Amino acid sequence: MENYTSRSIIMRTKEVGETDLLVTFLCPDKGRIKGIAKGARNSRKRFANCFDAFCLVDLQFSLKRSGDLYLLNSGRLINAFPGIRLDFTSLSYASYMIELTEILFPWGMGDRKIFELLRESLDALSRGERAEAIAVLFEVRAMTLGGYGINLERCCNCGRIYKGEGKAVFKRDRGGVACLKCQEETAVTPGISPQVVKMIQWMQTIPFRSLMKLELADKHIQEIRPVLKLHREYHLPKGPKTVCYLT
Ligand SMILES: [Zn+2]
Repeated sequence: MENYTSRSIIMRTKEVGETDLLVTFLCPDKGRIKGIAKGARNSRKRFANCFDAFCLVDLQFSLKRSGDLYLLNSGRLINAFPGIRLDFTSLSYASYMIELTEILFPWGMGDRKIFELLRESLDALSRGERAEAIAVLFEVRAMTLGGYGINLERCCNCGRIYKGEGKAVFKRDRGGVACLKCQEETAVTPGISPQVVKMIQWMQTIPFRSLMKLELADKHIQEIRPVLKLHREYHLPKGPKTVCYLT
């Protein structure tokens, strides 16, 4: 039996049998995996306050036989991100971030960066940073990490380099921007101002700690959201479901 210890983010839990919990969690190296915590609902000792959704914990677990269900042995709470549970908005955004992570990263696909991004984003939400802005920052970066970055370098039609002069137009079927000569602004090909193009470039590339400090004005968020929605729905037609809670 192999034993592991890993910093983990609790994604969801489900009651199983009389006293057990089935826990889905995200690790930097192993990705999103599942484990069973025997007797977790009776004994609060081995897993003190570890299994609320979004908690950052150190988990000890082992893999019995072959298979992909781990056995959770013990846990230590590192950060419960209590601020997330103070209001429904933060809670909805946190659930949304978890679900988007699940859709973009399959079971068992380890990715340190998505783990760090999720941790930083949950932390920012808990500190009371603006939930709407955090969700936008998270989504742009998570999509990029998942292989769906938006190409902002040049017009996807004529190839002209976008120099930040005048508006660009987003084209969902090309996953990038076009110049105004090639594509006019419509509801499904919304315009993006040079400033917001720059911001999306930053969001896709800067370190996570700086990312969470990016100040997005309401008008920027309003400009980015339709683009993100078109981009997300084009690539991920099945979800996330929690998006319907977000205005
Ligand atoms: Zn063009």
